[in-house]
Amino acid sequence: MIVARTHGELIAAIDSCRAGLATDRSTVAFVPTMGSLHAGHLSLIARARSSAGITVASIYVNPLQFGPGEDFDRYPREQERDTELLIDAGCDVLFLPSSETVYPDGFSTKVLASEALSAPLCGRIRGASHFDGVATVVARLFALVSPDTAWFGEKDWQQLLVIRRMAADLFPSLSVMSAPTVRDAEGLALSSRNAYLAEDERAAALAVPGALIAARNAAAKGGNVNGCIDAARSVLASAAVSVDYVELLRGDDLAPTPGPFPEATDRIFIAARVGTTRLIDNDSLTPSSPALSENLPTPMASTARAAATG
Ligand code: AMP
Repeated sequence: MIVARTHGELIAAIDSCRAGLATDRSTVAFVPTMGSLHAGHLSLIARARSSAGITVASIYVNPLQFGPGEDFDRYPREQERDTELLIDAGCDVLFLPSSETVYPDGFSTKVLASEALSAPLCGRIRGASHFDGVATVVARLFALVSPDTAWFGEKDWQQLLVIRRMAADLFPSLSVMSAPTVRDAEGLALSSRNAYLAEDERAAALAVPGALIAARNAAAKGGNVNGCIDAARSVLASAAVSVDYVELLRGDDLAPTPGPFPEATDRIFIAARVGTTRLIDNDSLTPSSPALSENLPTPMASTARAAATG
């Protein structure tokens, strides 16, 4: 794996990977991350590898998407461990830009995320500028890496929709691909922020996937939209978590579902705080998409967990 820190090094690294490949295999798949990697990130690398000849991952903790008082300063940074995990995962190029490379002197263009997609859910809680910060950094990284495909996790469903829209508007040749949420053996969605959780907080955090399952079960029993939301809320209410939102929205555009009963493309979205750690999760309500229980544990989940605790 080649580690590139500047735009010049990145282009040279991709060119040197390309030199050894047949033209039809010389496409670039890109996985942008903020590091502190886990099996969710590695599942994106695996999919990227199978979709293209050259896999590029980036690690950059983007200050633009953190609000005042959020966890930018304490966000986990584990470069050496991440580098090892990416080598083992078969990544070809790791882009580790400095802030000067991402936002050089004079950088002054910002991307405004789609208002319809960025206003609800996390946009309402974290402020509209959160998704503008996400759209800006991802557009900038797309411009630096020039990938053919880019991979994102469904765990951050709202972010995925914002980026899909941004890419369709600004990078029409690029395909945005998504992969299902990877969970630990107890159903908790893997997240770099799980490292903040003390043991008792981790137990409380399991109420989040528990609430998703309760909503699915309510839907399976013919429950209406309010019944599904109530089922999720009552699981959260029994745990030491503070709820930011529980909403059931249309999965493709985050519009309110017309009701009274959930539709096949609807999703339930949850954000909750456990102590000072904010967790988000979402799931479809129908068994046709990967169910919570079908999606865990994976061999990679155990590998990354072992690496995280080792
Ligand atoms: P982050 O490092 O948190 O910015 O995440 C980088 C990418 O990994 C994003 O596309 C996330 O949606 C994705 N991701 C994070 N957690 C998971 C997970 N548990 N399963 C699948 N993808 C994930």
